This record gives sequence, structure tokens and C-alpha cells, in this order.
Amino acid sequence: MSSANITTLAPPQKAAVLAEALPYIRRFWGKVVVVKYGGSAMEDRALAGLFAQDVMLMRSVGMRPVVVHGGGPQIGALMARLGMVPEFRDGLRVTDADTLDVARMVLVGKVNRDIVSAINVLGPLAVGLSGEDAGFIQAVARNPDLGFVGDVVQVNPSIIERLLAQELIPVVATIGSDLHGQAYNINADVAAAAIAAALHAEKLVYLTDVVGLLSDVGDPTSLVPTLTVDELDAWLAGGKVSGGMIPKLASCARAVRGGVGQAHILDGRVPHALLLEVFTNEGIGTMIGPS
Ligand code: ADP
Ligand code: MG
Repeated sequence: MSSANITTLAPPQKAAVLAEALPYIRRFWGKVVVVKYGGSAMEDRALAGLFAQDVMLMRSVGMRPVVVHGGGPQIGALMARLGMVPEFRDGLRVTDADTLDVARMVLVGKVNRDIVSAINVLGPLAVGLSGEDAGFIQAVARNPDLGFVGDVVQVNPSIIERLLAQELIPVVATIGSDLHGQAYNINADVAAAAIAAALHAEKLVYLTDVVGLLSDVGDPTSLVPTLTVDELDAWLAGGKVSGGMIPKLASCARAVRGGVGQAHILDGRVPHALLLEVFTNEGIGTMIGPS
């Protein structure tokens, strides 16, 4: 990780950095920005602290950040510690009742708490919640054969709007619930897009563990810096995207078509990636905008 720090800059350069941020601060004042936090950025303690700083800075200059987090690797790690053997059906992971319990405990009880506390040491504004709270995320089984893996039926943003109106920072674990109270584990990329659309967010930002969308997954210099939602459809159809990048891109398209201004895929391994994207002229990662 780079140790470069603004304190190592000469005063005129420091002033330039701050002045460059001004138009962005003005433009995003009062605007909702949904940040999906995942991948290795979440597992590295130092990076997690910088992420918390970025979120607090956004809030402090009048933006309204909403954090949505994943936690697949953390769920897998606890399952392994408990000696639980993952079950696959036609190549897809099955979430039985025990697996759902572990997912819910890890996401709501551990990952969510860690993010909330990292923000709250900087200022007491973060509030953790799951999609089960106040009817926030209504879910349905994606495929009954896969157990309790859910799709989003509807997002009721009222609880988030109330928290934002109180100037708080919502931190969301993506467990949803059906009308009978059955919980489902929902892909955090998909949930973040649905939440961003329901909140009419200005931006949806995915922090992940690659520099952005790559035209060749094996070549980190093959970054695709910008694309429209129509171009994105062609990418998804073209077969050059695999694994976790598929729900991410599909979610970007859904969010932008749902009225979100822009979606971004950024490298969460870069210290302060969020600040660089939001407050500087530097275009980092992949930006997806309307056609
Ligand atoms: P996250 O935890 O952030 O959701 P994922 O592992 O689910 O991360 O998704 C990101 C991964 O998608 C990358 O690490 C990369 O291995 C994979 N991927 C597949 N195709 C591409 C592509 N064309 N460009 C970039 N990443 C890709
Ligand atoms: Mg993923």
C-alpha cells in the first residue's frame, strides 16, 4: 500500500488538491451516493479504516452516503471453521437453513458491525441494518432448488430516507425477507443497485478487487474506462465477463436504467479509491452512464 500522504505534499499542491474538490463538493451536496463495499478492500484492516474516512468525509461535506456490503468470503470462512461442507446443485451453491443462519450471523452480526464501528470511531453517525428491518428489502426465492438465495421483489426505502433525514449513515447487510418473515441471502451487488434506484441515487459505486471492467481479464492494463448501458449489454452478451463481474455489470445497467446518474466499478485495493473518484478530476475505474 502506498504511504503517500497529503502531509508529504508542498503547500501549493495541498491547496490545489482541495481547490479541485470544490466543484464536486458543490455538485454532490445533498445527493445520495450508494457505495457497495466488498472484495479484498473489506478484509484489509488498514484499507477498511481509509474506507471509513472516505465515507465520513463524504457525509461531512453534505453528501448522503449509503453503504451496502457483501461478505461471501467471510461466510465461507466461518462455514469452513464449523466444518460445514458447501453443497452445489448444477454448479450453483445451495443455501439450506443452516447455511442461511451462518450467512445471516456473519453479515448482520459481524461484517456489518465491523463497518459500523470503523465509521463510528470517526464520528457517531453510522447505523447498521439488514434488509429485514422495517420492511426494507422484500425478497423471494430465486430458485426453490437453491434454498434461501433471494431475488429482490421490492425495496421500501422509507427506513433509509428517515435515517438520511437525520444525517445518519446507513450501513446495509443484504438479507431480505418475504411477507411471511422467511429470510433470504441476496447478492449484495444486486441489492445495491435496487437500493440506489429506489433512493434515486446520483451515483452507485462498486468497490471491488480489480481495476474495473477489463477487456481481457488476464491483463490489468486492458481497463474499459467508460461505457454506456447499451455498450454494457453488448459486453454481457459477448462472453468476456465471468464470475462476480456478471452480477456487477448487470446491476450497473439496471441501476442506470432505473434513473441512477452513473455507476462506477473501482479498485478497492487502492487507498482512498472512493475519494479519488468522487472529489478529483482523475477518472479511475470504469464508469457506466446512460446511452
Ligand atoms: P466483489 O467481492 O467485489 O463482488 P467478485 O469476485 O464478485 O468481487 O467480482 C470481481 C471479479 O470478477 C474479479 O476479481 C475478476 O476475477 C472477475 N472478472 C471476470 N471477468 C472480468 C472482467 N472482464 N473484468 C474484470 N473482472 C472480471
Ligand atoms: Mg461479488
